[in-house]
Amino acid sequence: MERTFIAIKPDGVQRGLISEIIARFERKGFKLVAIKLVVPSKAFARKHYHDLKDRPFFNGLCNFLSSGPVLAMVWEGEGVIKYGRKLIGATDPFKSEPGTIRGDLAIVVGRNIIHGSDGPETAKNEINLWFKPEELT
Ligand code: ATP
Ligand code: MG
Repeated sequence: MERTFIAIKPDGVQRGLISEIIARFERKGFKLVAIKLVVPSKAFARKHYHDLKDRPFFNGLCNFLSSGPVLAMVWEGEGVIKYGRKLIGATDPFKSEPGTIRGDLAIVVGRNIIHGSDGPETAKNEINLWFKPEELT
């Protein structure tokens, strides 16, 4: 069954949005198969966002991801990669539709509270980066 990697970033955890966000994935019918709270190192954050290494905001983004606890999760279900991105909304919360997580709960792009894998290949790589095989149910 299809799986995706979803992370609530330090701003989402700090703002107390964990239950709100998990509820949206659960209510849709997706299944939680792994979850843990971790403070990623800067080096780990750079690995996670390596595709963006040439962007001007890369350094700030990695500093931010490693600034506090991140809730790392794996969700499972038919179409969960694409639909998970739909639940999350557009990268810039001002362009995300109301009804999406970012549209309802965030304002600025650098504090958009949640990450979701953007395709099957990234989902596989990100799940393997964040979780050991024995942590997956
Ligand atoms: P994510 O990978 O976190 O799910 P995304 O796939 O919607 O987000 P990406 O293009 O992968 O968007 O960008 C990764 C993250 O980098 C964004 O979530 C956002 O926090 C940050 N980011 C993107 N564009 C900008 C920008 N112009 N200025 C500052 N931060 C940005
Ligand atoms: Mg992305």
